[in-house]
Amino acid sequence: METPPALLPKELISATAIAARIRELGAEISRDYAGKPLTVIAIANGAIIFTADLIRAIDLPLQLDSIMLASYGTQTASSGEVVSRSKLKLELSGRHVLVVDEILDSGHTLMKVFELLKQEKPIDVKFCVLLNKQERRRADIRADYVGFEIPDHFVVGYGLDYHEYCRNVPYVGVMQE
Ligand code: 5GP
Ligand code: MG
Repeated sequence: METPPALLPKELISATAIAARIRELGAEISRDYAGKPLTVIAIANGAIIFTADLIRAIDLPLQLDSIMLASYGTQTASSGEVVSRSKLKLELSGRHVLVVDEILDSGHTLMKVFELLKQEKPIDVKFCVLLNKQERRRADIRADYVGFEIPDHFVVGYGLDYHEYCRNVPYVGVMQE
């Protein structure tokens, strides 16, 4: 059992900056999906907080579902082995799907999600991530909506965990030694 970190993370992106960027993303998504049947899928647990804020910035009727995945590897690097740990509740055929994740790193997670969702025959699948670490990309995947480009730092807060802690920190930051 890990003990909670002694220090709060050092702020990288403030709660105010996150909220402002989410309003912009919400407006852009609202324009792009106007009149289309939209299903938002959150990748739990990390994307729960971002998704909760993002969908309230989308001014359209939409359905919400979530999927839980397990990615093997170390705390800071994905091995590329990603397995699904839950099933979707909603039907995706005839729907436009927007997958929401908190961070796009190697891309293995979103690649796996794409393969899983394709089998459900949605009209299309797009990706929205709060954070993009472009230099870490391994899988051939790109996000359609990106909140912030960030350098290769291990970040926490706003849904991102440090040994399952820090998800409730309201900003994105880096751990202090
Ligand atoms: P990927 O499969 O693209 O390598 O990354 C998938 C998952 O790894 C993310 O959804 C997130 O849960 C975790 N992850 C990647 N980078 C970071 C990071 O900097 N901090 C934390 N806390 N998790 C990360
Ligand atoms: Mg995640």
